[in-house]
Amino acid sequence: MLADPALAQSAAQWRDRDLAVLWHPCTQMREHPDILPLVPIERGDGAWLVGRDGRRYLDGISSWWTNLHGHAEPRIAEAIARQARSLEQVILAGFSHAPAVKLAERLLAIAPRQPGRAPLAKVFYADNGSAGVEVALKMAFHWFRNRGEPGRTKFVALENGYHGETLGALAVGDIPLYRRIYAPLLAEALFAPSPDAYLAAPGEGAEQCAMRAADALAGLFDRHPGEVCAVILEPRLQCAGGMRMHDPVYLRRVRELCDANGAFLIADEIATGFGRTGTMFACEQAGIAPDLLCLSKGLTGGFLPLAAVLATQTIYDGFLDDSRERAFLHSHSYTGNPLACAAALASLDIFEGDDVLARNRGTAARMSQLAASLASHRHVADVRQAGMVVAFELAREGHRDTPFPPAARVGLHAYRAALERGVLLRPLGDILYWMPPYCVDEAQLQLLAEVTHAAIEEATACA
Ligand SMILES: *Cc1c(COP(=O)(O)O)cnc(C)c1O
Repeated sequence: MLADPALAQSAAQWRDRDLAVLWHPCTQMREHPDILPLVPIERGDGAWLVGRDGRRYLDGISSWWTNLHGHAEPRIAEAIARQARSLEQVILAGFSHAPAVKLAERLLAIAPRQPGRAPLAKVFYADNGSAGVEVALKMAFHWFRNRGEPGRTKFVALENGYHGETLGALAVGDIPLYRRIYAPLLAEALFAPSPDAYLAAPGEGAEQCAMRAADALAGLFDRHPGEVCAVILEPRLQCAGGMRMHDPVYLRRVRELCDANGAFLIADEIATGFGRTGTMFACEQAGIAPDLLCLSKGLTGGFLPLAAVLATQTIYDGFLDDSRERAFLHSHSYTGNPLACAAALASLDIFEGDDVLARNRGTAARMSQLAASLASHRHVADVRQAGMVVAFELAREGHRDTPFPPAARVGLHAYRAALERGVLLRPLGDILYWMPPYCVDEAQLQLLAEVTHAAIEEATACA
């Protein structure tokens, strides 16, 4: 689609103004604008983003996995506006407000449960995913100090996992591109093999592969008796690590191992929560409940930054004492911001009112059909799906042992090719994925599939 010349000029002006003053996230700024386009957006409209030049882009990645019900969703927008007219922010130490309380009640009511295990009972707010992870790590660590077990200082994390960019979160992350340079600053963590089914040995099924990874975790516990305070993982789906998926049996086994070894289980559902993998929370697919659950991203429907860390009563009780030092003194200025809580409540209303999870089952089935048509492409090594997430692993000869050379930057070429055709895909390396807003319709899904095919063709043509 050709842009109106006047609008195109306006967009170009915004691009220049932007590049004069802004430093963008997760970007080598030198690539702007020649290698990497910079797209000024005017507004959002459901699954669409509308550029200043009038071009429309289908948001195939829910704007970094945050958006759930569509951009500028009127019910959430209205809830925020209403809340802003009455109370925009108040200190949450010593003060309380209805949106924070109601949201905590509702989150606890829908949190994953496990028979025979005490439910998650308390909510601690933070204001982004990484901060939520920091809270969970600090709580687990501090709890054992309070208990008089100061030897439990180690976190176990999974290879290829991701938990955010702050230093504590990076310490339990295993994406070299983000982590390596800061390694000297990071607390030491123990890394267990990923249960990633894509890494299954020849002839091995996803379940066996998961069990093998669980055995390795058991070995790690054995080598560090009484040292581990918590295991942190992304249940079901390692997102930033390339949309890698594992069999839920792994989670059941990890839950058992944590219990047997007296360590907490921290489920980072910042990306998988709120229906992304088909169930409200990914833990449900394994029938397990964690001791600490981190939520963010989709929590507010993608409108405002907010995180919630759900903890068991046992963890909460471990901080009750006459000493202030034994309290969890962590805080953020905007902890429990009323606008963000109001947005989250409106998003939960939409889940109920529109029966979003049921509708998503139909959408996910359609995504599965459309993805199947790409599975036989000569450069597609793997197609995998978890609910509303589908990933395509690209490889030169169409199997895992023949990756494209990194210098070919196949993912970047696919990104540009898709953008030119009006779809925002943002591959992770050479892994393309669909993670659309839940309001995506049939025509949009077809566009997503067509453009993905064209982008793979174009990106692999000269690689
Ligand atoms: C995005 C993400 C985070 C970090 O959240 P931010 O809000 O970007 O800090 C943590 N964990 C997982 C699993 C994520 O996908």
